[in-house]
Amino acid sequence: MPHCPNPVELERISDAERRAESRAEWLAGEHRAGNHPTAHVHYDLPGQAFTVVAPKGGASA
Ligand SMILES: [Zn+2]
Repeated sequence: MPHCPNPVELERISDAERRAESRAEWLAGEHRAGNHPTAHVHYDLPGQAFTVVAPKGGASA
């Protein structure tokens, strides 16, 4: 999936949590079903966390 500049962060799940990546992917799916059809997961390497993001302007009006 192409990654995006300046995404809006919707969720942040610490990599220390159990099944963090699965949870992040699930949350992204929930957002895609809602107001953020382009929501997807990034990994924040310095923050050691998965983030669910939506590209700016990607939310449906
Ligand atoms: Zn992205």
